[in-house]
Amino acid sequence: MSSNKPSISRNELLDKLKVSSQVVLETAQKKGRSKCPKCNSSRMFYCYSCYVPVESVPHEDIPIVKLPVKIDIIKHPNETDGKSTAAHAKLLAHEDVTMYTYPSIPDYDKQVHEVVLVFPGPSAVSLKDGLQYLIQYNNQKKDIPIPDCKRPRLDTDKSESDDKTIKTAGENTNYLKKVIFIDSTWNQTNKIISDERLQGLVSVELTERKTSFWRHQKGSPDTYLSTIEAIYYFMVDYHMQILEKDYNGEYDNLLFFFSFMYTLIRDAKKAAGKL
Ligand SMILES: [Zn+2]
Repeated sequence: MSSNKPSISRNELLDKLKVSSQVVLETAQKKGRSKCPKCNSSRMFYCYSCYVPVESVPHEDIPIVKLPVKIDIIKHPNETDGKSTAAHAKLLAHEDVTMYTYPSIPDYDKQVHEVVLVFPGPSAVSLKDGLQYLIQYNNQKKDIPIPDCKRPRLDTDKSESDDKTIKTAGENTNYLKKVIFIDSTWNQTNKIISDERLQGLVSVELTERKTSFWRHQKGSPDTYLSTIEAIYYFMVDYHMQILEKDYNGEYDNLLFFFSFMYTLIRDAKKAAGKL
């Protein structure tokens, strides 16, 4: 088949990940569903409503990922919780992740100078340019209004702007207090993205990557990542492009559940002769 759909056997990325031992997940998988210690629901691995591992999965066997920047995840209320990967982020980096269910979201209007939204689109800029915006906003103080929701692209190609490029990683990162991700299907995103509380925020897009998600939605491009993939790639980009450090797997454990479930599904498909 020559379709563009991502193949379940695409695993170059996942094979190279430095994730913690997944024996705890293998064991839990053999036992089957277990109880959520908070709401008593029967779940596999973790409770996607309470963001805690189930009873058969000891807390201490789940890795903790420290993120270089705080994130908010805005969930679409219709998104089936069990199918979303957003919970992975809260489970693995709980100190740095806050979950919101749309329309209950913070008033980002007041945070345009310290927040970026990860969302591709005509007005999206690269991560570097996005942070450059925040620096410009903040350096201009209060007398210059924040540009309208139609954010012009920064003219980064001109040599003149080279001088303005922030040289030190430190200054680049000071202004960014939070990164917003939207967790919804390709079709549901529009309503959230057009909410007035999100207007005026700088949108950044990630370096293009293809998804490995097994629930890839029909009709959406294969660069439309699952939420946990988007968060992971954002952190990798941030680490390398903004902090200007070599990447040595620091955030790979964000894919702790994702890579395990990916392998399970791939193996099941293989066993069923579908691969
Ligand atoms: Zn629960």
